[in-house]
Amino acid sequence: MTEKNQTALVFEGNSFKYEMENVTKLFFPLRHFAFRYDGVCPEENFILFSMQEQENGSVRLRVKISLPAEKEIGPIVCQKESELPGGLAENQYESELARLLYAQLHEHTGIRPAWGILTGVRPVKLVQKRLAAGMNDDQIRSEMTTQDLVSDGKISLALKIAHVQHQLLEGRTSQDYSLYLSIPYCPSRCSYCSFVSQSIGGKKAQELLPRYLMALIKELRVTAEVAKKHQLRLRSIYLGGGTPTVLSASQLRQLTGAVKEYFPGVGQVEYTIEAGRPDTITPEKLEVIKSSGATRISINPQTFSDEVLRRIGRAHTAQDVIDCYRLARSMGFDDINMDLIAGLPGDDYEGFCHSLETAISLRPENITVHSLTVKRSSALHAGIEEMEDYRPVQKMMDYTSSRLMEEGYDPYYLYRQKNTVGNLENVGYALPGHWGEYNIYIMEEIQNILACGGGAVSKVVKPGGLERIYNFKYPYEYLDRFSDILERKQQLSELLSSAGKEWENGIGC
Ligand code: SF4
Repeated sequence: MTEKNQTALVFEGNSFKYEMENVTKLFFPLRHFAFRYDGVCPEENFILFSMQEQENGSVRLRVKISLPAEKEIGPIVCQKESELPGGLAENQYESELARLLYAQLHEHTGIRPAWGILTGVRPVKLVQKRLAAGMNDDQIRSEMTTQDLVSDGKISLALKIAHVQHQLLEGRTSQDYSLYLSIPYCPSRCSYCSFVSQSIGGKKAQELLPRYLMALIKELRVTAEVAKKHQLRLRSIYLGGGTPTVLSASQLRQLTGAVKEYFPGVGQVEYTIEAGRPDTITPEKLEVIKSSGATRISINPQTFSDEVLRRIGRAHTAQDVIDCYRLARSMGFDDINMDLIAGLPGDDYEGFCHSLETAISLRPENITVHSLTVKRSSALHAGIEEMEDYRPVQKMMDYTSSRLMEEGYDPYYLYRQKNTVGNLENVGYALPGHWGEYNIYIMEEIQNILACGGGAVSKVVKPGGLERIYNFKYPYEYLDRFSDILERKQQLSELLSSAGKEWENGIGC
């Protein structure tokens, strides 16, 4: 039964639910769906996806739409069909149905989602796959335009990133790994945050933190033993969270001291410490970071509007970020990242452009721009209605890429998350030579990650794909079940052994 206001997605001869729902959501992000697989449509408010083999062996694909009016979009009643030869791979029929759907919804709503029908895939990976298959840029551009319906600007972005990454990733081996450490605490919770991070303000958190730190250091020691046993080569370190600088200067010294002691590569590899929120940064903590062997820090404004900062629950001003950035510069930090978010509540195109221009004027080596993602676990999810029209965010992202490239920043990694406003992307830009390698390793899923702490996920790359081992999310769980965490390090070791054998034998290559 379809409830009132629910749109029925009806399938006949196929069950491509995931792709069709995702493409429909690009146009109607807040609509709820019901699904049926018997090909029987209700009287109205449905989309039919039909795939039927014909007597001559070909396959007839048809998308029929009957949707009621919604806000400024009038009722849509239409259908389109096409025919493909029989015997093709299933995903070719699926893509054709998605194109038929996209074309009609674009025509009737005027909305043109920039990544076309690419919803569940990583666009840069797709480009890399096509490059590896021997296609040149022009061929890739043409395929992405006609098959994936991606806009010119986004194709250029994905191609540029694929080429930058190609240079950076030369010489890597299956023995490489990066170390990730998680401090799942923050000074307060931002309204859009879906991460497990705990606010440090509470008494309970204050009591748990020293115990958490001790356990984390223990996990680090065991992790270093695993890396040594498998003769892995450390390529980068990332201390993130949360906000690692919620630790006091002496706690930070203790933690970074352990990293230095257990991992001999410190000082020779990229080492990032997130100093995300200026309300947690002091000259003393920056001193500790400076002497820890860290090579990069992140100071994240998210926006340079005080009003927007207030609305997202941040207890600092834009000027605090600027002061903190200048302090770090005066202390000799020469590789700084700044994160911004496009689409924050209360922000608009002009406001976002002002934030971007302020970041550019400070000239950090990295600027990472995220499209707002609204997950169910965030406080903002309750107010999701505000987010329905993502077109201004698309404009912000387009402005970002043209302005940053004009200023000499190269895009070097890109990822999209589920529930991102308008299926848009997050992109890291850097001045040449300042690419954050860890970001590429983690987003492209091409390197082993040994991860420690609450919510951390270790990843082992095998010839046939990636395997993950999860730590418990919340600090209290992490502490209560710490013996399980150590057991999982044993599992990690076993996984690395089997991956090593598979790589040696070339299985799956
Ligand atoms: S600083 Fe980051 S991790 Fe912490 S609450 Fe805000 S968004 Fe979440």
